[in-house]
Amino acid sequence: MDIENVICDSRTNREIIMNTTKTNKRTWAEPYKIKVVELLKMTTREEREQAIREAGYNTFLTRSKDVYIDLLTDSGTAAMSDRQWAGMMLGDEAYAGSENFYHLEAVVREYYGYEYLVPTHQGRGAENLMSRILIKSGDHIPGNMYFTTTRLHQELAGGTFVDVIVDEAHDPENTFPFKGNVDIGKLDKLVQRVGADKVPYISLEGNVNMAGGQPFSMENLKALHVYCREHDIPIMLDATRTIENAWFIHEREDGYAEKSVRQILREICDLTDGCTMSAKKDALVNIGGFFACNDEAVYRQAQNLVVVYEGLHTYGGLAGRDMEAMAQGIREAVMEEHQAARIGQVQYLGEKLIAAGIPIVMPIGSHAIFIDAKRFLPHVDQDDYPAQALAAELYVESGIRTMERGNVSAGRDPVTGNNRRPPLELVRLTIPRRVYTQAHMDVVVDSVCDVHQRRDSIGGLKMVYEPDYLRFFQARFEPIA
Ligand SMILES: *Cc1c(COP(=O)(O)O)cnc(C)c1O
Repeated sequence: MDIENVICDSRTNREIIMNTTKTNKRTWAEPYKIKVVELLKMTTREEREQAIREAGYNTFLTRSKDVYIDLLTDSGTAAMSDRQWAGMMLGDEAYAGSENFYHLEAVVREYYGYEYLVPTHQGRGAENLMSRILIKSGDHIPGNMYFTTTRLHQELAGGTFVDVIVDEAHDPENTFPFKGNVDIGKLDKLVQRVGADKVPYISLEGNVNMAGGQPFSMENLKALHVYCREHDIPIMLDATRTIENAWFIHEREDGYAEKSVRQILREICDLTDGCTMSAKKDALVNIGGFFACNDEAVYRQAQNLVVVYEGLHTYGGLAGRDMEAMAQGIREAVMEEHQAARIGQVQYLGEKLIAAGIPIVMPIGSHAIFIDAKRFLPHVDQDDYPAQALAAELYVESGIRTMERGNVSAGRDPVTGNNRRPPLELVRLTIPRRVYTQAHMDVVVDSVCDVHQRRDSIGGLKMVYEPDYLRFFQARFEPIA
């Protein structure tokens, strides 16, 4: 049977788009109806107090069964469509040369435009391959703000990350619409200081996660492309949320209202040289990722290295069915009505919190609302981890699981050993794709407001266990008496 025709009839997809864009002028209502549900469990306050204590006040260490609304992450938490589930049944689980690999390769070529594809088990698997191939000890890797796993792989490969995002991104109250932009002046300063030969590539992230889900503009990317071609520096995209970035360009940037998300995605990728991808975000799957590029020599190295770290180059740590679901997920992710609902829901939550006087990062981003813990708990010093404390408090309040994106996530400066004390001290309320309803968002607003009302009584935390790498995942805390 022809997988393309059964699961992914692109003609049908196109008809769906045409029918729903009319409705979307009025509403962001979900462009789907619900076929399967998963029951939620509500806990008591006493149960949650015990659960967070046992978890060392780290939401990453709480158990899913103790959570009511799970806003920990949008990573791998999407609800798959009936077509994706149907694709799971078409998994070709051969060790070598799975049909699903060739299908995925064709879809990545078509939608992202890169010639060569190496699947990986998730995004960091691709980051590991790329960092090992492109970075030499002593290199500097500029990026539009760091991402935790990305920077760690750069450092493990002997490189130093250098932040070249625009200043606006570090100011949670600044409403600049493209806070993901690269400051080309900052980039040039680095290149002048260390020399272009010490800059193996620039790492460009779409909808910058750590800045609050903020997009770069096409204008900025075009200027970056010109600069990087002049200095012979490749642009490697962190494509994890680039389809959502394309939606913002469609919505906000002059000249792009008439272009489809799909066209904008291709335009972005065509200005870059390759990418790492966590398919657990944009691509609507529970697991998966890839490395893709246009340089055959780099591809050959990635194809070889993936065998060491992930699996054969036609599965890279994934089952055939996972690659099939990913291929279909990419098709669904570029649909305008999907992004309108996805981002519309996040905007809905954000606007309600703003109206209630909750300090959040502006403008509202794509995948999450970021509460500004410095303004929410101004009496808690940053080394007493206000965002970590607030995330724990929100969980105790109503069973809503969020995560810290501040001093704990930023880790220690490798030179001084001190906490990095980043400008942004945030609690992330991350919205899984196609999972929760508007009523759930209303519950979240009420819970945040209740905690806000008693904010003066909330104290900080001290870290009592600190792992060596990515400490935010496993660190343990105790309340400061
Ligand atoms: C999630 C994420 C990654 C890492 O991907 P995993 O699939 O979690 O390994 C890399 N970059 C960004 C921007 C991400 O959000």
